[in-house]
Amino acid sequence: MPLLTNLPLDITIDQVLLGQGADPRVIRARRPRLVAAAERALAEGLPLLAPRVVYEQLAVREVRHERILLENGHALTGPLVAGQLMSAQSVVVLLCTVGDAIEKLSLRALESDPVHSLALYGVGSAATEALSTAACRYFGQQAAEQGLLTTVPLSPGLEGWPVERGQPEIFRILDAAAIGVELLPSFLMRPVKSTSLVVGVSKHIDTSAHICDFCSRRYTCSFQEQYKE
Ligand code: SF4
Repeated sequence: MPLLTNLPLDITIDQVLLGQGADPRVIRARRPRLVAAAERALAEGLPLLAPRVVYEQLAVREVRHERILLENGHALTGPLVAGQLMSAQSVVVLLCTVGDAIEKLSLRALESDPVHSLALYGVGSAATEALSTAACRYFGQQAAEQGLLTTVPLSPGLEGWPVERGQPEIFRILDAAAIGVELLPSFLMRPVKSTSLVVGVSKHIDTSAHICDFCSRRYTCSFQEQYKE
């Protein structure tokens, strides 16, 4: 099963702050100490990151009754994937992780230096996000070279694709152990700093959708504009 192990991670300090659940504009204006903590954590955390992606690109065999049947006999099901992937010619199913070293360091620092611990946590979250963005960009470029488009990336947990449905569907398709990821009975992943997603590939795709459109937090989340920047 193919792996990607050399995707570039482009992580900014603002992304580290966002990864801590903080608003970078507010933090920069009122809590410069936290900006310095994010800078320190990023410098310390970068060498610990081990970005790896395992993926499979599969042709769509059939779309029926909210079910995307793939060439290998596995299916992605539910209203979200059926709606967004209905015109896809193929689907890239992928799993990304940055490993568990950053998470372990964050946990070790929790008691002695909670601010540093949280900043390291933010680095891990930002790195995971950066890796999935880089992977989607990679597949977007591959598709573009063939005159094709890609959909917005869809992850289990978005509206219409609950984790208890989507995670097993993805893990049935991929060799998660190849990058050291396992699915827990809770449907969370270990290492925590991992993400699973699917991307549709086709000549005719509505590219106007944004991930926030399918997120249950979109009515209250204040990060949407920054997330889109
Ligand atoms: S609404 Fe958008 S920015 Fe906010 S949590 Fe959901 S996906 Fe993230």
